[in-house]
Amino acid sequence: IAQELRALIKFRPWSRNQSTIANGKHEQSSFLESVDVYFDKAAAVSTTAPDILALIKACNCVVKLQFPLKRSTGEVEVIQAYRAQHSHHRLPTKGGIRMAPTVDAEETMALAALMTFKCAVVDVPFGGAKGGIRIDPRKYSMQEKEAIIRRYTSELAKRNFIGPAVDVLAPDYGTGSQEMAWIRDTYQQLHISELNASACVTGKPLEEGGIRGRKEATGLGLFFCLQEFFNDEELLRGVKLSQGIKGKTFVVQGFGNVGGNAINYIHGAGGKIIAIIEHNGGIVDESGEGLDIPKLKDYFNMNRTVTGFPAAKTIRETEGILEMACDVLIPAALESQIHMENAPRIKAKIVAEAANGPVTAAAEAILERNGIVILPDLLMNAGGVSVSYFEWLQNLNHVSYGRMSRRLEEHNKMDLINALERQLEKSLSSDLRMKAFRGNTELDFVWSGLEETMLAAWNNVKNTAEKRGCNLRTAAYLIAIERIAAFYQVHGIFP
Ligand code: GLU
Repeated sequence: IAQELRALIKFRPWSRNQSTIANGKHEQSSFLESVDVYFDKAAAVSTTAPDILALIKACNCVVKLQFPLKRSTGEVEVIQAYRAQHSHHRLPTKGGIRMAPTVDAEETMALAALMTFKCAVVDVPFGGAKGGIRIDPRKYSMQEKEAIIRRYTSELAKRNFIGPAVDVLAPDYGTGSQEMAWIRDTYQQLHISELNASACVTGKPLEEGGIRGRKEATGLGLFFCLQEFFNDEELLRGVKLSQGIKGKTFVVQGFGNVGGNAINYIHGAGGKIIAIIEHNGGIVDESGEGLDIPKLKDYFNMNRTVTGFPAAKTIRETEGILEMACDVLIPAALESQIHMENAPRIKAKIVAEAANGPVTAAAEAILERNGIVILPDLLMNAGGVSVSYFEWLQNLNHVSYGRMSRRLEEHNKMDLINALERQLEKSLSSDLRMKAFRGNTELDFVWSGLEETMLAAWNNVKNTAEKRGCNLRTAAYLIAIERIAAFYQVHGIFP
């Protein structure tokens, strides 16, 4: 197979000791180039053949769509949108769809590549994909957004670029369960006899075939990994921190689905959120106790912004907040937020990447030189797609885990109760039996599956970093590369 591949693909040897981030020449580089640098760093220490590496790195296909939107003013606007399918080594491909003014072909390709590697790190059996619509969603009404999403879905459907077995969409920056419901419905209308149509998208509302816990999944997955980090004496020694999340200080960029949920769990474990940065400004705690998160949630639900929160100081220029002294900085918004220019001023001890690609390759070198540990995106935000996988499975099965797990649990408990009764040589009261039956829900099932997935991935990344003598990001890329390469070894190349 390797020989066949060599003949097919232009030979591109990876230099084993190239310094990919020398003298900051990547400062001018794009997000996609940054992802490529991360890949190349791992490729350089991988034992995978160069031709297979080239195959794994390449983005398989990108579609650019331009379609009309009739705005509420009657004017027609041309909307630009993309979908990139990075790797078809496993199908369907999987990845979110974002709405942001930054969207372009390169950004979509970079995000699709990250999906490929992320799915491999958590061993979720999908190829990677990503979509984007180049608009600022805040400037469009609900009706306009619905029209955009429905047209986007139908454009993808026409080209066989969406489907439960082809490419499965999900929420990302600027989209949520409402957009996923529109996608599902549009796809279903166009494929009326397709039994599994609802599996064409994940992150749906519960009524539409969504799964409990998907919304919290990315933040919770990140929290599971943070807990592991704060239990690891060796890693903690490196950054001179004591064990446990309790009392540690956190700065979080982004108060959306990912940042907001991560904050909930961290606060619940006694972590102090000392500042939050949003697109329209930030807030900084002045009490020394950390922000009052339940109060902040109430304030946010009323005002749709964190700025102006009475119990904190509002700051309009947020650049400085990112650079505040803290134990953990969590970028949970967009890519390239920590770059060569601001990296030297970052004072956090740990950067936990909740967003996709928030640290550029050039910035990573600077942070590491300053002893800052980076917990990489491929691992830290993989909880979202892991629970998307459960949702997709549930849709294909046409039965909820809640129903399945309650029955299973009841049988287990029945066995236990019978054994207990035999031991006690008497029957338990029906009241006690009922109590023993309560408890299991779909949520327990999903979250235990998520915890298992994240802990397995965390251990794998950590051990690989130790064994191969590289940082955690390179270890995550190495795991991904080696898992994907194993596929090509087995199934070969079509035709
Ligand atoms: N957009 C999320 C991500 O970047 C979720 C993707 C998915 O669930 O498919 O990981």
